[in-house]
Amino acid sequence: MLSVKDLHVHYGVIEALKGVSIDVNEGEIVSLIGANGAGKTTMLQAISGIVKKSSGDVEFLGQSIYKTNPKNIVAAGLTQVPEGRRIFTGLSVYENLMMGAFLRKDKKGIEEDLQKVYKQFPILEQRINQDASTLSGGEQQMLAMGRALMAKPKLMLLDEPSMGLAPILVKEIFSIIKEINAQGTTVLLVEQNAKMALSIAHRAYVLETGKIVLSGTGEELINSPEIQKAYLGG
Ligand code: ATP
Repeated sequence: MLSVKDLHVHYGVIEALKGVSIDVNEGEIVSLIGANGAGKTTMLQAISGIVKKSSGDVEFLGQSIYKTNPKNIVAAGLTQVPEGRRIFTGLSVYENLMMGAFLRKDKKGIEEDLQKVYKQFPILEQRINQDASTLSGGEQQMLAMGRALMAKPKLMLLDEPSMGLAPILVKEIFSIIKEINAQGTTVLLVEQNAKMALSIAHRAYVLETGKIVLSGTGEELINSPEIQKAYLGG
Protein backbone atom coordinates (compact mmCIF):
# COMPACT_ATOMS: atom_id res chain seq x y z
CA MET A 1 0.00 0.00 0.00
CA LEU A 2 2.80 2.40 0.97
CA SER A 3 6.34 2.09 -0.27
CA VAL A 4 9.02 4.55 0.79
CA LYS A 5 12.19 4.21 -1.23
CA ASP A 6 15.61 5.58 -0.34
CA LEU A 7 14.12 8.74 1.14
CA HIS A 8 16.41 11.62 2.03
CA VAL A 9 15.29 14.75 3.90
CA HIS A 10 17.44 17.73 4.87
CA TYR A 11 16.80 20.64 7.20
CA GLY A 12 19.41 23.04 5.87
CA VAL A 13 22.69 21.20 6.32
CA ILE A 14 21.24 18.60 8.70
CA GLU A 15 20.35 15.33 6.99
CA ALA A 16 17.41 14.04 9.07
CA LEU A 17 16.66 11.03 6.83
CA LYS A 18 19.60 9.32 5.16
CA GLY A 19 18.02 6.97 2.65
CA VAL A 20 15.09 5.32 4.42
CA SER A 21 13.07 2.54 2.79
CA ILE A 22 9.98 0.98 4.34
CA ASP A 23 6.88 -0.84 3.13
CA VAL A 24 3.40 -1.00 4.60
CA ASN A 25 1.03 -3.64 3.25
CA GLU A 26 -2.73 -3.31 3.23
CA GLY A 27 -4.26 -4.42 6.54
CA GLU A 28 -1.07 -4.13 8.58
CA ILE A 29 -0.07 -2.20 11.66
CA VAL A 30 3.54 -1.20 11.07
CA SER A 31 5.49 0.52 13.84
CA LEU A 32 8.51 2.72 13.46
CA ILE A 33 10.38 3.02 16.73
CA GLY A 34 13.45 5.04 17.64
CA ALA A 35 14.89 7.42 20.19
CA ASN A 36 14.39 11.16 20.41
CA GLY A 37 15.60 12.87 17.25
CA ALA A 38 15.94 9.66 15.21
CA GLY A 39 13.80 11.17 12.46
CA LYS A 40 10.43 9.53 13.13
CA THR A 41 8.32 12.67 12.88
CA THR A 42 10.29 13.78 9.83
CA MET A 43 9.45 10.45 8.20
CA LEU A 44 5.69 10.90 8.70
CA GLN A 45 5.77 14.57 7.67
CA ALA A 46 7.68 13.67 4.50
CA ILE A 47 5.16 10.94 3.62
CA SER A 48 2.25 13.38 4.21
CA GLY A 49 3.91 16.00 2.03
CA ILE A 50 4.41 18.46 4.89
CA VAL A 51 8.22 18.56 4.81
CA LYS A 52 10.21 18.82 1.63
CA LYS A 53 11.92 15.66 0.44
CA SER A 54 15.45 15.87 -1.02
CA SER A 55 15.38 12.60 -2.99
CA GLY A 56 13.95 9.10 -3.14
CA ASP A 57 10.32 8.17 -3.75
CA VAL A 58 7.04 7.58 -1.88
CA GLU A 59 4.41 5.40 -3.52
CA PHE A 60 0.86 5.11 -2.19
CA LEU A 61 -1.56 2.66 -3.80
CA GLY A 62 0.84 2.15 -6.68
CA GLN A 63 1.30 5.83 -7.54
CA SER A 64 4.11 8.18 -6.65
CA ILE A 65 3.04 10.89 -4.20
CA TYR A 66 6.56 12.31 -4.07
CA LYS A 67 5.41 15.61 -5.53
CA THR A 68 1.76 15.54 -4.40
CA ASN A 69 0.59 18.32 -2.06
CA PRO A 70 -0.71 17.44 1.46
CA LYS A 71 -4.35 18.13 0.57
CA ASN A 72 -4.30 15.75 -2.39
CA ILE A 73 -2.49 13.15 -0.28
CA VAL A 74 -5.37 13.28 2.23
CA ALA A 75 -7.84 13.07 -0.65
CA ALA A 76 -6.03 9.94 -1.90
CA GLY A 77 -6.72 8.24 1.47
CA LEU A 78 -3.70 8.94 3.63
CA THR A 79 -4.33 10.88 6.85
CA GLN A 80 -1.96 11.82 9.65
CA VAL A 81 -2.70 12.15 13.36
CA PRO A 82 0.02 14.63 14.32
CA GLU A 83 2.30 14.61 17.33
CA GLY A 84 0.74 16.65 20.13
CA ARG A 85 -2.76 16.07 18.64
CA ARG A 86 -2.99 19.62 17.14
CA ILE A 87 -6.68 19.88 17.84
CA PHE A 88 -8.36 23.16 16.96
CA THR A 89 -8.91 25.10 20.17
CA GLY A 90 -11.79 27.55 20.14
CA LEU A 91 -13.79 24.99 18.15
CA SER A 92 -16.13 22.41 19.64
CA VAL A 93 -15.52 18.67 19.60
CA TYR A 94 -18.11 18.35 16.82
CA GLU A 95 -16.48 21.10 14.75
CA ASN A 96 -13.08 19.47 15.17
CA LEU A 97 -14.45 16.16 13.93
CA MET A 98 -16.07 17.82 10.93
CA MET A 99 -12.75 19.48 10.03
CA GLY A 100 -11.51 15.95 9.36
CA ALA A 101 -14.15 15.58 6.64
CA PHE A 102 -13.41 18.92 4.95
CA LEU A 103 -12.57 17.34 1.59
CA ARG A 104 -15.63 15.09 1.49
CA LYS A 105 -18.89 15.83 -0.26
CA ASP A 106 -20.81 12.62 0.59
CA LYS A 107 -23.13 13.95 3.31
CA LYS A 108 -24.62 10.55 4.08
CA GLY A 109 -21.20 8.90 4.36
CA ILE A 110 -19.99 11.72 6.64
CA GLU A 111 -22.98 11.25 8.96
CA GLU A 112 -22.42 7.48 9.03
CA ASP A 113 -18.76 7.94 9.87
CA LEU A 114 -19.63 10.46 12.60
CA GLN A 115 -21.87 7.84 14.20
CA LYS A 116 -19.04 5.28 13.92
CA VAL A 117 -16.64 7.71 15.61
CA TYR A 118 -19.15 8.27 18.45
CA LYS A 119 -19.45 4.52 18.85
CA GLN A 120 -15.68 4.12 18.95
CA PHE A 121 -15.22 7.09 21.31
CA PRO A 122 -18.41 7.53 23.41
CA ILE A 123 -16.68 10.24 25.46
CA LEU A 124 -16.56 12.47 22.35
CA GLU A 125 -20.31 12.25 21.91
CA GLN A 126 -20.77 13.26 25.54
CA ARG A 127 -18.49 16.26 24.99
CA ILE A 128 -19.83 17.20 21.56
CA ASN A 129 -20.48 20.92 22.20
CA GLN A 130 -17.55 21.46 24.52
CA ASP A 131 -14.53 23.52 23.42
CA ALA A 132 -11.88 21.01 22.39
CA SER A 133 -9.28 22.77 24.55
CA THR A 134 -11.15 21.65 27.68
CA LEU A 135 -10.59 17.95 26.93
CA SER A 136 -8.01 15.92 28.86
CA GLY A 137 -4.88 14.69 27.08
CA GLY A 138 -6.36 11.24 26.46
CA GLU A 139 -9.61 12.73 25.18
CA GLN A 140 -7.67 15.05 22.88
CA GLN A 141 -5.81 12.04 21.46
CA MET A 142 -9.17 10.36 20.86
CA LEU A 143 -10.45 13.52 19.18
CA ALA A 144 -7.39 13.67 16.93
CA MET A 145 -7.93 10.03 15.95
CA GLY A 146 -11.66 10.59 15.45
CA ARG A 147 -10.94 13.62 13.29
CA ALA A 148 -8.55 11.53 11.17
CA LEU A 149 -11.20 8.80 10.81
CA MET A 150 -13.65 11.42 9.49
CA ALA A 151 -11.42 11.68 6.41
CA LYS A 152 -12.16 7.96 5.80
CA PRO A 153 -8.49 7.08 5.41
CA LYS A 154 -7.16 3.89 3.90
CA LEU A 155 -3.88 4.48 5.70
CA MET A 156 -3.60 6.29 9.02
CA LEU A 157 -0.26 7.69 10.17
CA LEU A 158 -0.03 8.13 13.94
CA ASP A 159 2.74 10.21 15.51
CA GLU A 160 3.44 9.36 19.17
CA PRO A 161 -0.14 8.68 20.27
CA SER A 162 1.06 7.72 23.77
CA MET A 163 2.88 10.99 24.40
CA GLY A 164 2.12 12.47 27.81
CA LEU A 165 -0.56 9.93 28.72
CA ALA A 166 -0.87 7.90 31.92
CA PRO A 167 -0.16 4.15 31.46
CA ILE A 168 -3.80 3.14 31.68
CA LEU A 169 -4.74 5.58 28.92
CA VAL A 170 -1.81 4.43 26.80
CA LYS A 171 -3.25 0.91 26.96
CA GLU A 172 -6.67 2.20 25.98
CA ILE A 173 -5.33 4.21 23.04
CA PHE A 174 -3.35 1.21 21.76
CA SER A 175 -6.34 -1.07 22.02
CA ILE A 176 -8.36 1.49 20.01
CA ILE A 177 -5.61 1.53 17.37
CA LYS A 178 -5.96 -2.25 17.11
CA GLU A 179 -9.73 -1.91 16.73
CA ILE A 180 -9.40 0.76 14.03
CA ASN A 181 -7.03 -1.56 12.19
CA ALA A 182 -9.37 -4.54 12.60
CA GLN A 183 -12.14 -2.44 11.05
CA GLY A 184 -10.06 -2.06 7.89
CA THR A 185 -7.71 0.90 8.26
CA THR A 186 -4.02 0.22 7.67
CA VAL A 187 -1.79 1.88 10.28
CA LEU A 188 1.74 3.28 10.31
CA LEU A 189 2.65 4.18 13.86
CA VAL A 190 5.62 6.16 15.16
CA GLU A 191 6.46 5.73 18.84
CA GLN A 192 9.04 6.18 21.53
CA ASN A 193 7.08 3.69 23.64
CA ALA A 194 8.74 0.72 21.94
CA LYS A 195 7.10 -1.93 24.09
CA MET A 196 3.53 -0.91 23.27
CA ALA A 197 4.31 -0.14 19.63
CA LEU A 198 5.95 -3.53 19.06
CA SER A 199 3.27 -5.42 20.95
CA ILE A 200 0.54 -4.34 18.52
CA ALA A 201 2.63 -4.30 15.31
CA HIS A 202 2.50 -6.92 12.59
CA ARG A 203 5.88 -5.61 11.49
CA ALA A 204 8.22 -2.90 12.70
CA TYR A 205 11.30 -0.89 11.80
CA VAL A 206 13.91 0.66 14.05
CA LEU A 207 15.15 4.11 13.04
CA GLU A 208 18.44 5.44 14.39
CA THR A 209 19.79 8.85 13.37
CA GLY A 210 18.01 8.84 10.04
CA LYS A 211 18.63 5.21 9.05
CA ILE A 212 16.72 1.94 9.42
CA VAL A 213 18.96 -0.34 11.47
CA LEU A 214 16.63 -3.28 12.12
CA SER A 215 13.28 -4.65 10.94
CA GLY A 216 11.13 -7.68 11.54
CA THR A 217 7.82 -8.80 12.95
CA GLY A 218 6.71 -7.10 16.16
CA GLU A 219 7.36 -10.34 18.02
CA GLU A 220 10.86 -10.80 16.57
CA LEU A 221 11.86 -7.31 17.59
CA ILE A 222 10.38 -7.56 21.10
CA ASN A 223 12.45 -10.71 21.61
CA SER A 224 15.60 -9.32 20.03
CA PRO A 225 18.42 -8.87 22.60
CA GLU A 226 19.52 -5.67 20.84
CA ILE A 227 16.05 -4.17 21.15
CA GLN A 228 15.66 -5.37 24.71
CA LYS A 229 18.87 -3.63 25.65
CA ALA A 230 18.43 -0.40 23.70
CA TYR A 231 14.68 0.20 23.90
CA LEU A 232 13.04 -2.02 26.47
CA GLY A 233 15.39 -1.49 29.40
CA GLY A 234 15.99 -5.21 29.75
P1 ATP B 1 11.04 13.12 18.63
O1 ATP B 1 10.58 11.82 19.11
O2 ATP B 1 11.85 13.89 19.63
O3 ATP B 1 9.97 13.96 17.98
P2 ATP B 1 11.92 12.20 16.04
O4 ATP B 1 12.50 10.84 15.95
O5 ATP B 1 10.52 12.39 15.63
O6 ATP B 1 12.13 12.77 17.49
P3 ATP B 1 12.52 14.34 14.24
O7 ATP B 1 11.65 15.30 14.94
O8 ATP B 1 12.09 13.81 12.95
O9 ATP B 1 12.88 13.11 15.20
O10 ATP B 1 13.96 15.01 14.07
C1 ATP B 1 15.02 14.42 13.35
C2 ATP B 1 16.22 15.36 13.31
O11 ATP B 1 15.92 16.51 12.52
C3 ATP B 1 16.63 15.92 14.68
O12 ATP B 1 18.03 16.02 14.71
C4 ATP B 1 15.98 17.30 14.72
O13 ATP B 1 16.70 18.16 15.54
C5 ATP B 1 16.03 17.71 13.27
N1 ATP B 1 14.90 18.59 12.90
C6 ATP B 1 13.57 18.29 12.99
N2 ATP B 1 12.81 19.30 12.55
C7 ATP B 1 13.67 20.28 12.19
C8 ATP B 1 13.50 21.59 11.64
N3 ATP B 1 12.30 22.09 11.37
N4 ATP B 1 14.62 22.32 11.41
C9 ATP B 1 15.86 21.82 11.65
N5 ATP B 1 16.09 20.60 12.16
C10 ATP B 1 15.00 19.83 12.42
